[in-house]
Amino acid sequence: MTLLQNTRPQHFMGADAELENADWTLVGIPYDGTCSYRPGTRFAPEMIRAASYGLETYSPILDRDLESLRIADAGDLDLPFGNRDAVLTMIRTAAESVLANNSRWAGLGGEHLVTLPVTEAYLKRYPDLAVVHFDAHADLRDDYMGERLSHATVLRRVVDLIGPESLAQIGIRSGPKSEFDWMKAHKTLLTSHFDLEKRLRDWQDRPIFLTVDLDVLDPSILPGTGTPEPGGFSFAELQDWLSLLKHSNIVGFDAVELSPPYDPTGVSNIVAAKVVRHCLLLYQKA
Ligand code: MN
Ligand code: MN
Repeated sequence: MTLLQNTRPQHFMGADAELENADWTLVGIPYDGTCSYRPGTRFAPEMIRAASYGLETYSPILDRDLESLRIADAGDLDLPFGNRDAVLTMIRTAAESVLANNSRWAGLGGEHLVTLPVTEAYLKRYPDLAVVHFDAHADLRDDYMGERLSHATVLRRVVDLIGPESLAQIGIRSGPKSEFDWMKAHKTLLTSHFDLEKRLRDWQDRPIFLTVDLDVLDPSILPGTGTPEPGGFSFAELQDWLSLLKHSNIVGFDAVELSPPYDPTGVSNIVAAKVVRHCLLLYQKA
């Protein structure tokens, strides 16, 4: 279990539980090896942890408190930068460890490619897994500059595993026409709360992995990201969308693509920490 040893002194707020049987296990994945435009997401996990201390554990919107959950913080994975395949293997092994501990993965990216190995690990445990994807970008390219494993292709690789009927995409507003045609043909893009509520009913109580690319937020809310895309959600809008999942069977999530160097005010880090808090609180003990 060496991958899950906590090597950093600071936890996310309220994350002081042991790794075994924790409701959630936070894992930092400081990777930005395939970022297409501006790297920097490797600095995100530690900044999200530090920023969390400016927030409360209680969410008045959800009327839920982190203190009612057992949350562990496994620290950051010690990744071999430059060896993408070894990085992906290490992330998959870490996700398997979290699941073997009867816990849930709460991933602090890193770039979006980190979601793929986690999905692979989850499918072994939950063969009927569905994925809810928040992002400005579809991430559905079959390859990006000849590369099939990239943060621009990650959801296409996830679809290869789960099929398009098990994917819901929200907030997408950028990509080539071919990606939008694909989303239309496969009905993966949801544009209203009604759409998501219906999809969740159709999925019944299937286990859901939630992946939040923070660039789904408008750059005025979260400028600290490598590929900012104007026209995104306000924080309240994202919060409302996420809240639709508060009675769903959320078995894991990640928050990716925060890139602290691009926001010298540090506000993006706080926004990201609050998104993480909201996602943690979507799970409620029976
Ligand atoms: Mn994106
Ligand atoms: Mn993405």
